[in-house]
Formats: sequence, C-alpha cells, structure tokens
Amino acid sequence: MKLLPGPQLIMVLIDGLGDRPIKALENRTPLEAARTPTMDKMAREGTQGVYYPLGPGVPVGSGVAHNLLFEYDIEEYEGRGVLEVLGMGVELKKGDLCFRVNFATFNNRDVVLDRRAGRADKDLDEITLELNKAFNPNPFKKEIKLIHGFGHRGALIIRGWGGEVDLPEIDPQIEGMAIELPEGTREAELASFIFKTARKVMSDSVYNIKREKAALKPANGLLLRGASIYKPLESLEARTGLKSLAIAREHLYLGAARFAGMTTIQVDKDKDKVDKLMKNVHNYDFFFLHFKKTDTAGHDGKYMDKKKAIEEIDALIKPLLTLDNVAIVITGDHSTPCELKTHSGDAVPALFWGLNVPADEQVKFGERFARRGGAGQMHGGDVLRMLMNYAGRMVEYGL
Ligand SMILES: [Zn+2]
Repeated sequence: MKLLPGPQLIMVLIDGLGDRPIKALENRTPLEAARTPTMDKMAREGTQGVYYPLGPGVPVGSGVAHNLLFEYDIEEYEGRGVLEVLGMGVELKKGDLCFRVNFATFNNRDVVLDRRAGRADKDLDEITLELNKAFNPNPFKKEIKLIHGFGHRGALIIRGWGGEVDLPEIDPQIEGMAIELPEGTREAELASFIFKTARKVMSDSVYNIKREKAALKPANGLLLRGASIYKPLESLEARTGLKSLAIAREHLYLGAARFAGMTTIQVDKDKDKVDKLMKNVHNYDFFFLHFKKTDTAGHDGKYMDKKKAIEEIDALIKPLLTLDNVAIVITGDHSTPCELKTHSGDAVPALFWGLNVPADEQVKFGERFARRGGAGQMHGGDVLRMLMNYAGRMVEYGL
C-alpha cells in the first residue's frame, strides 16, 4: 500500500495517556483537567476519536501497543526481549533469542530481595564483563551476550538459537519469593545455565564487595524476562513508502520503532525532542515522538503529576503547529488510570490535526470529548491509517 503524496505525518505518543474521571479533579481526567492551549487549538481545528488498542476491555503492554499502532498484527508481536534489545541499538539476526534482564539482589536461597538491586548501576558494566566471560564458551555452543542498559536494566542475546521459544519468566514478580527454574526443554536448560552461572559469578564478584562498601545492595543475580526470538518483518517504509524517524528515550519504544524499520534518535530530555524533529523535518515523511512521564505518573497513582506532565508536553509541542505541511495525531498507547495504577482496557483518546484534517465540534482534547468526536471508535491499527486518510494520502481500495 504505497501512499499518495501529501503532508508529512507526525504521531505524538503520550504514554498511558487515557484515564478515568478523578474526584479530586472535579470528576475530570488528568487530560481534561490539564491546561492545554496547544491541544485546545488543535481540538477546535481538528477531529477526535477514541481507540481500543486490541479490543474493548483488553489491557495491553506498551510493546504490543506500539506494534499495533505501527499497523502490525497481534500475531506478529515478538515479545519484550526482542524490542528491548533492538532499542539498545543491537543488530539482530533471524533466530536470535532475546531476554530483558534485571540485575537483582538475592539471598543465598535464591529468594529475590530486591528486583532492581536498589536501582543502583555502580560497577554493573564491570560485572557484565565478568558474566560475558563466564557465559562463553558454553555447552549450548551459542554465543551468549549480556548488555547493561540504564540503571538495573539489561538485555541478553543468544545468537542463532532458532525455532520457537516458550519460556516462563525467570522472575517471581514479587520480592520475598524464591526463583523457580523451568525444566524439561532445551530453552529451560539454557535459562537454568544462565541463571546459575550468573548467581555464582556475581556472588563471588569483587565488584559486589565494592557496592556493599558504598552502602549499595549487591547485584548478585539476574532476572530473565520476555524471552522472544527475532524474526524480521516488513518495515513500515516497505509497506507504505514512509521514510520514518522515531524520537524517544527508553529502549522499549526505540526498539518498537526499530522493529518497524524506523531510524531512531535517542533523546534524554523531553524538552529536546521537538527540537530534534524540527531539525530533521525535511529528511523524513513520518515522525514518531514519544513521551513517557504520563505513564509513570499513572502507575504511581499521581494524578497531579500526570496532569502536569500533559501540560508540559502541550507547551513543548507548540512549535509543531508552525509547520504548514503536516498532519498530526496526538494519542496514547493505552490507558493507565491513576486509580488503578496499571494499564486498563479503556478507550484511548486520539486527536487529529493539520493539513486536510477536517474539524469536528469538540473544543478541548479529552476522553469525554474524544468519545463524541468525528473520528468515532477505532482499533490500534486504525490510528495511523486514519491519519493518512485525513491527510489525503490513502489510495482508494480496489483500484
Ligand atoms: Zn505504554
């Protein structure tokens, strides 16, 4: 499906944007209560709708949600491991097995005391070097590579593993619980080898003595999560002709964008993200701009923080309105209601604005306005298509 020529397309993704009315906000959601002059102008001049990422009432993780927004089918989702590893900038080949990893603190009976080793990353690069030596060579005759990411996070790649993988999380999720290692399959043996080797090497590591001297919790084991095998899929550009740029901070979102074949730029500070887009505005056809703070506030149940984060983003995206050849959608990847402190299967608001985009009757962006908006009710894969459609870039079906 190649597109017609027309305006450039921008997706502003406000993570976990959707919410529910909150009493303390006079029964408004954080988005409805936020002071958002930029989005209000866009609401007056554009069209809103709501969408369900996968279906009404089905909560989804951020990785899946992004794949759906980039118009992949749910069956094409490969798991968090692959997305995290891609997001770290690692080149993957078909058949590579990926995990996302937590450096964690255990007691000597393999009970998890802290799933994030106090979130301290001191000496984790050095511990990673020790582990990579210990993992290779190994009885599986495959290269095992650990990469340290931000803070307590990392990723693990087993090159050329192949086949399918169905492994439970090597992570009890709850602190105070012991690890249960899977048994009976080749993957289970591999996970067991990695876990036990890591526990031994990390417990004996001189760097953990240094951490303890610095009053930090030891990083004496790994939690292995999101096991998945990489299979390359057709890129967004190959499917649509859109040369695409993603701007984000966290590995998962950069990874979801790389999975879709986009060029990525990692930008630490929200205030620099729009600037990066403006500098690259002549070089790409589609831009994906990701903001994370709203989701974190939702998970913490901090509705005032979520409202403030929305207000900050509103101010930051104002320069986008000076671009005269663009069509923009502002949306979330799922709802993270502050009262639930987790993702829900609620509808997510979406606001379309820009060249060729018609106006509906709504004057402010928010959940209840979006439900009455001109774009109606959509699914995850419809959002980008609707943006292309409003921008006048869709080719007539059946021609
Ligand atoms: Zn999310």
